[in-house]
Amino acid sequence: MKNISILGSTGSIGTQTLDVVRANGDINVVALAAGRNIDLIEKQIVEFSPELVSLWSDEDAKELENRLKGHNINIEIMSGIDGLKAVASIDKAEVVVSAVVGMIGICPTIAAIEAGKDIALANKETLVTAGHIIMKMAADKGVKILPVDSEHSAIFQSMQGNKREQVSKLLLTASGGPFRGWTREQMKGVKLEEALNHPNWSMGRKITIDSATMVNKGLEIIEAKWLFDVDIDDIEVVVQPQSLIHSMVEYVDGAIIAQLGTPDMKLPIQYALYYPDRKMLAGDRVDFSVLKQIQFEIPDMDNFRGLALAREAGKTGGSMPTVMNASNEKAVSLFLNRKIAFLTITDIMEDCMNRHKLIHNPSLDEILSIEKDTYDYIEEKYM
Ligand code: NDP
Repeated sequence: MKNISILGSTGSIGTQTLDVVRANGDINVVALAAGRNIDLIEKQIVEFSPELVSLWSDEDAKELENRLKGHNINIEIMSGIDGLKAVASIDKAEVVVSAVVGMIGICPTIAAIEAGKDIALANKETLVTAGHIIMKMAADKGVKILPVDSEHSAIFQSMQGNKREQVSKLLLTASGGPFRGWTREQMKGVKLEEALNHPNWSMGRKITIDSATMVNKGLEIIEAKWLFDVDIDDIEVVVQPQSLIHSMVEYVDGAIIAQLGTPDMKLPIQYALYYPDRKMLAGDRVDFSVLKQIQFEIPDMDNFRGLALAREAGKTGGSMPTVMNASNEKAVSLFLNRKIAFLTITDIMEDCMNRHKLIHNPSLDEILSIEKDTYDYIEEKYM
């Protein structure tokens, strides 16, 4: 039995991780952390019997404790950042699935690495903002950072059996999202419901909006840079609207190795949990007799400013990806609450990046303080 803990167990990645656990029967869930979804975490506790659970607020943690009095369950319940860190570093866990959304994932992911856990990493915002800290710490501690993001898992899978120094570039595929082919003029009146309607993937709300703005692909460029130690200039985005090719690696001899499959996050989650083994995974298979065509397009950096801004932040490096990411997180939450228009998301990002005074090698404290400063600025100016 492998012991795991999950940060963000009630989310899209968290629940699909538990689907993988349920289907295989040889993984023990020792700890869970979530934000506010008490109903779902209560069900998860009853089904998976973790030893430790954490919710974000004290009130929700107390409410959960009261509810569990009815069940005969021996469990510790915590809250806040201490709870997240405790779930991440619990003794028994060998692998920590880092699947909270946003920069809140940085401190618990660091706690897990410090405790010597391998990380199945979905929470891309952690690497985007603190990649220089996380990757060095993981190397020093000798822990694996196993990608869960489908593109990065595809790259990781396409690198197996090959030499890292013989990679010439990474080809990150993108679906293009629901507004592929649209101009900024057309995107002016985009409604929240339209932006939440991703053509191929069913995901959490924040990443779905990131996919609609294509900021997600920019975050993934920076994530790939840290995971695979590749220069940003050697990472190319290829739009492939069917989401069949999950990403590709080009080698020095011109060979391109890709990973293909139907869009199902359970595959990269399972691969990260069992790496280097492959296990049976039920679900649809690619049927080449039905598949009529695979399209490719160049990404439209003019109309999708978010991709250009995120790439620029990645190239600038230092604290710029933190500002880019924090301003995007705040702007997306405003859009999700119908406070700003769709295109204002990237306007806010650009504004925040323009005013930022770059720090070259930011410490964790500086990253967290830049996050707060960026949030405060946006709240003051745009709310
Ligand atoms: P969701 O919004 O579906 O889930 C987020 C999870 O984080 C929930 O369990 C939520 O709890 C929890 N959470 C949020 N805030 C806190 C907090 N302060 N303390 C503790 N838990 C918190 O997101 P996704 O699963 O879609 O995405 C998770 C991460 O994985 C993101 O970084 C995303 O970019 C990445 N990712 C997601 C993919 C997908 O297919 N969904 C694909 C590739 C990467 P609650 O709901 O209880 O409030």
